[in-house]
Amino acid sequence: MTGINIVPVKFYKNTFLKKIIKELNSRFHSDISLIALDLDVEETYSEDRGQFFSSQIIALSAPLTQTIPGKVLMITEVDLFVPVLTFVFGEAQLNGKHSLVSVCRLHEEFYSGISEDELLFQRTMKEIFHELGHCFGLLHCIDWDCVMHSSQGIEEVDIKGNFYCKICARSIDGLK
Ligand SMILES: [Zn+2]
Ligand SMILES: [Zn+2]
Repeated sequence: MTGINIVPVKFYKNTFLKKIIKELNSRFHSDISLIALDLDVEETYSEDRGQFFSSQIIALSAPLTQTIPGKVLMITEVDLFVPVLTFVFGEAQLNGKHSLVSVCRLHEEFYSGISEDELLFQRTMKEIFHELGHCFGLLHCIDWDCVMHSSQGIEEVDIKGNFYCKICARSIDGLK
């Protein structure tokens, strides 16, 4: 199985990234690397919405990552949107190379004003596994215990399971 490359995009929490990498290493046999990309996402910012256009960020990253083998998982602090939705937690290319996860709306502060580091980490890992799952060709799963269940809001992120169900896991090579 090819590697997974973690790319911070407007994301500066190194301790948090290390924790993510450690967790991915415990779940996948593939090499997990942290890489830096010279990616300027300002042109994807919508003044009207105060958010960044996730599909455009993925499109901008494609030419910069052509020679990098494996998957590219971008992690950002900024709020993301696609035109038909108020916001997205992330986006991925189905059976493709690129995925993007925003932690903006995974912070408990966003909802209650209270900071909860462990909850933020759990939510972030769920969304990372979810978007990576799409890159590995998985569609949404009807099983609420499965991380591939779709999440329209934060309650649904919290309700769903924190890893792939047995059926979804079978479709991913290289899971531990
Ligand atoms: Zn999805
Ligand atoms: Zn599933």
